[in-house]
Amino acid sequence: MDKATIVSQVKAAGIVGAGGAGFPTHVKMTADAEVIIANGAECEPLTHVDKELILTQSPLIVAGLKAVMQTTGAKRGVIGIKGKYTQAIAAIRAAMGNDPSLSVAELGNFYPAGDEHILVYDVLGRVVPEGGLPIMVGAVVQNIETLLNIGRALQGQPVTEKYITVVGDVPQPVTVKVPIGVSLRQVIELAGGSRTANPTVLNGGAMMGSVVENLDAPVTKTTKLLLVLPFEHQLSVKRRRTRKDIDMHAIAACDQCYMCTDYCPRHAQGHAIQPHKLILLLASGVAVTDAQMAGALLCCECRTCNYACPVHLSPGDIALTIKRDLVKARVKNPYNRQTEPDPYRDYRRVPMNRLISRLDLAKFDVPAPLTDAVPQFSRVTLNLRQHIGAPCQPIVKVGDRVAAGDVVGQVPDNSLGAPVHASVAGVVTAVTAETVVIEKE
Ligand code: SF4
Ligand code: SF4
Repeated sequence: MDKATIVSQVKAAGIVGAGGAGFPTHVKMTADAEVIIANGAECEPLTHVDKELILTQSPLIVAGLKAVMQTTGAKRGVIGIKGKYTQAIAAIRAAMGNDPSLSVAELGNFYPAGDEHILVYDVLGRVVPEGGLPIMVGAVVQNIETLLNIGRALQGQPVTEKYITVVGDVPQPVTVKVPIGVSLRQVIELAGGSRTANPTVLNGGAMMGSVVENLDAPVTKTTKLLLVLPFEHQLSVKRRRTRKDIDMHAIAACDQCYMCTDYCPRHAQGHAIQPHKLILLLASGVAVTDAQMAGALLCCECRTCNYACPVHLSPGDIALTIKRDLVKARVKNPYNRQTEPDPYRDYRRVPMNRLISRLDLAKFDVPAPLTDAVPQFSRVTLNLRQHIGAPCQPIVKVGDRVAAGDVVGQVPDNSLGAPVHASVAGVVTAVTAETVVIEKE
């Protein structure tokens, strides 16, 4: 298959980054790259999706990786995976065969090993510039599930399913495959439901996830990990606090010890992000959209600094809310230096086991194997904005009959985005500018 055909099949299949913000994959596939890194780092505590996919779907993942290498002209493909996952490494090596252009990079069990900048440095020894992208040092990073979706797209299959790990205070932690558009509540039921009433659910996990306000919200192409916590769990309490509480607590209690900045993985790359300084500026009454706050634009939202703070403040939450305010106010990032990593970088990494213990999640650190069972659902709600870029426009109307895989939402001409497909066969029962609802007959 030639490059143009591969890119157009990936575009038509509606593939977006399955582990992040949902950037349309076909765009990344047209870059000129030297090396493609498959991100199997399983960054978030308690997640299992990537490892389970590598164990069960390695040949298609490798096919996806080779396709990205072909379209970008990359001569090397490297699969980054934690060294502790020996079975998964054996599975991917078997799928790679003797291909000299492919290799495995065994990663340490640290957080955040899957952050793109950290992964690129750990695999290639190259520092991505401040505010920059891996392509600036010749690399394209693709999530494992994204590569699987590319492998499937080459067989004519669009993105209609999502793999999700459900862990925490549930009877049977599990990794499941569900149609896109089922509710988060239904997915949690597949793990036996929450053990406690009124749980806090973190969509995306303990560190980078966000609190789910509505359990009836639908699964999207980027849903990956649902962490169910009792209402009174310390992380649950901490993550439900208001911004005002978080800021006031920090202003009152921060002693400027610098630990948050010392442990910040992007600061350790030499980047000008200093969470302790953001708190000092807040305490001094500087407006959050002031140019002095612009270092927050370099924050990757990993919350490692929360872990580091000896008095349990949340500098990471402060940095990411300031960052979002700066973006909204269209303050431009003034930092774009090519930096050197801190010489003590490797001594300041956060071991995953220690992080899990500090977050009081050790009792939830159990296997969550991928189940073969394919649950049946009678109704799906397909979000027309599951990606970065312009929302899709519905191309179906109430009463239309659709088959699984039919396009129901299309990207406007000349806009960034990815089409949305029906994830089940049925009848369209509702259409708005935001969603398409399909019910089985
Ligand atoms: S969340 Fe904290 S540790 Fe992570 S990049 Fe932002 S400031 Fe640094
Ligand atoms: S680690 Fe905590 S106390 Fe120390 S500077 Fe950072 S926010 Fe303040």
